[in-house]
Amino acid sequence: MSVEIVEKTGDSMALVIRGLPLGLVNAIRRIMIAEVPSMAIDDVLIVENSSFMYDEVLAHRLGLIPLVTDLDSFVKPEDCGCGEPLGCGRCRAVLVLDVGAEDSVRVVYSSDLKPDPSNPTVKPVSPNIPIVKLAPGQRVKLEAYARLGTGLQHAKWQPVTVCYHRYIASITIHRDRCDGCGRCVDVCYRRVLALRDGIASPVNVLECTLCNDCVASCPRAAIEVKPENDAYYMRFETTGSLPPQRVFEEALKILKAKASDFLSKLGGVGR
Ligand SMILES: [Zn+2]
Repeated sequence: MSVEIVEKTGDSMALVIRGLPLGLVNAIRRIMIAEVPSMAIDDVLIVENSSFMYDEVLAHRLGLIPLVTDLDSFVKPEDCGCGEPLGCGRCRAVLVLDVGAEDSVRVVYSSDLKPDPSNPTVKPVSPNIPIVKLAPGQRVKLEAYARLGTGLQHAKWQPVTVCYHRYIASITIHRDRCDGCGRCVDVCYRRVLALRDGIASPVNVLECTLCNDCVASCPRAAIEVKPENDAYYMRFETTGSLPPQRVFEEALKILKAKASDFLSKLGGVGR
């Protein structure tokens, strides 16, 4: 098996995975979406809200703000033995919002959510998310409690946005049949093919979606496109809550724990 990183930015990653069956690649993708934990606001204590927005809607909007997640310092509430309704320092982070509009209209942004000094790492990923607009004289004052959770519980805890995998194409050009007409090059909107020395050649195979437009456009049947065996292109973007590499690593850890659990249960079968 081989994994090659073909693209990496601060919040996205693209991989080429070879030698792994489709089911396992899909399991990693699904675990990244639904089971890798991240932080999100889950409880809100509203002290004052004289804005036009109902408390429930305000709390819902706060829940959907992606938060920078510190997986090493926090545990999930169900794994913490504190038993406190609002959690303890190990299982929740507090953010405070206290904004009032004086003489003019004031928009409350995610940057107004101030992290508690005891857990300064947990804060909104972006400072520019509008939460509510206040008319002169209106005020919002609240305490928000963020916890670790998973996409299985609610989409607000999903650490990834785009997350997909697809087949990698295996493109064969029969050079003896290709007359270099260039129709296949023109028909491919992803620019997978180009003419090299008067012959069509694959130059950007990872972009191929196996649509077979090039095959249909060739009057001499000089192109064959089929999926490569057990080779997949995987691409995912995070909400900014966790670095993409960490999301991938956590998904592998979870998959490994599931496999170990399965094996240990299987060991007891028939005894
Ligand atoms: Zn706790």
